Amino acid sequence: MKIKNILTDYYKIPLPTVMTDSTHGVMRFFELITVRVQDNNGNEGLGYTYTVGAGGNAIRNLIETDIKPILINENCELIENLWKKMWWHLHYVGRGGLPVLAISAIDIGLWDLKCKSMKTPLWIALGGNCAEVKAYAGGIDLQLSLDELLLQTQKNIKNGFKAIKMKVGRELLSEDYERVSEVRNLLGDDYHLMIDANMGWSVEKAIKASRTFANLNIYWLEEPTIPEDVLGYSRIQNEGNLPIAAGENFKSIYEFKNLINQGGVTFPEPDVSNCGGITTWMKIAALAEANNLKITSHGVHDLHVHLLASIPNSSYLEIHGFGLDNFIKNPLKIHNGIARAPNSYGHGIEFKWDKLNSI
Ligand SMILES: [Mg+2]
Repeated sequence: MKIKNILTDYYKIPLPTVMTDSTHGVMRFFELITVRVQDNNGNEGLGYTYTVGAGGNAIRNLIETDIKPILINENCELIENLWKKMWWHLHYVGRGGLPVLAISAIDIGLWDLKCKSMKTPLWIALGGNCAEVKAYAGGIDLQLSLDELLLQTQKNIKNGFKAIKMKVGRELLSEDYERVSEVRNLLGDDYHLMIDANMGWSVEKAIKASRTFANLNIYWLEEPTIPEDVLGYSRIQNEGNLPIAAGENFKSIYEFKNLINQGGVTFPEPDVSNCGGITTWMKIAALAEANNLKITSHGVHDLHVHLLASIPNSSYLEIHGFGLDNFIKNPLKIHNGIARAPNSYGHGIEFKWDKLNSI
């Protein structure tokens, strides 16, 4: 089967509420770049990537100008081959950055197309471990007052979540400590509580913060500092003594390899929409398995539920607050903190194109 055409689109998606974290500041919308990979049998695979508000048009242009011409008329079943072709075609401006987000979107579209042709759900085609995946509520809540934060936590408890993540990185560490303590008090000891600093701290501050939070039963500390500081991560985990989650800003398997080899991470956290797509995500999961680590996910939960359901070493699925669900026909449902990978062919995600086009 050959690739006949690739359709691309770009959307600015308004966020359900204005969101804030320690690095990205105030976020009012995110960018969605969609690709529809069509074969010569009339089948179509859907892929997509997103940004936190900038760079999306350049990603779409990369696909249109540089990727599409090298893929048309190629065999769409040879995903590894096409992935390598895209990577090396763009390597001089790539090995990270925008090209990897573009490759991710195409790769997801190719896997969807392949699974639809095979009449198989994605999570089964990738290995098939267990349809049920534990999910946590990922709050983007640094800007919330303490009362609002507690209200949000109560809502998450009511919705059946057994694990919750909150942002840290306020101006004073004492503010963070108070907020995390209050949420822990509300949750009791039976809930898993994660905290996310979005790269906002120096290594020294992250070690100090880790020690400060020592009595609050933190399940993981996420992205304490910039992802490039691999040795810093190792120090934070070893000297701060909290399990570290990291990887949402890594754009290759090599970056995961380096961090794992340095002992800087307990929960690798690849994002399929920016790490190189499903092809790379699965290799990162295998790398983690070989190092006796469990994988968590970042963003795009409708896709990640398949990936976590396919592997033996899955940790939690992040339920992300970007609100893409409003534009998906059958968004993922969570019951008692558990998400279930769908059994429709491919990833099963269908966008409400009319709604997207009317934004
Ligand atoms: Mg994060």
